[in-house]
Amino acid sequence: MPASSTARCLPGSDLSHFPHLSIDEAYAVIEPYFEVIREEYLAAGLKKTKRVRLFIAPAMHDSPRHFGACKDDGSAILLAPELANAPDPVVLAICAHEFGHATDFLYPGEFVLDHGGPAQRRPKDQIDDKQWSKWLKAWHQREDDVIELTADAVAHRVMGVPYGYQGPCWIQSFDAVRARPMGLR
Ligand SMILES: [Zn+2]
Repeated sequence: MPASSTARCLPGSDLSHFPHLSIDEAYAVIEPYFEVIREEYLAAGLKKTKRVRLFIAPAMHDSPRHFGACKDDGSAILLAPELANAPDPVVLAICAHEFGHATDFLYPGEFVLDHGGPAQRRPKDQIDDKQWSKWLKAWHQREDDVIELTADAVAHRVMGVPYGYQGPCWIQSFDAVRARPMGLR
């Protein structure tokens, strides 16, 4: 799958010195983190995130900073197997960011930036059709930077911690304590 056309986004750091894991091994390590973050999104009332599927995609890791992506219909999150070797906060941060994209795509036009704080959610059922189609049009025309910032802002809203945005999908800091999967070290 060509990540450039069907997916966007990707953070990371150089983990190439870690041992190589098979897809199945990587899936077994990464999937619990992915589900822990999904639980946070579901707990925030974002029921559509139930349908997001996880794929481990080696082809994704085509640069030291490419570890995750989200399909732009929100149906799937792709993570590189190398992520299995990353520290907990990095894995959780990337999952939370990718779920931010998935949510943004699953609820078109609903989430908007709010001055660097958590994303604001527009009350769709209270907005008249004409206004909504205007907003939706603008939502479809957003720049990539805005899309990335929105993913962070949605993650901020759901996880309750601010997100350190450092350029295209680079995630520097994230408070993982709240979301650490039980039994994972
Ligand atoms: Zn992103």
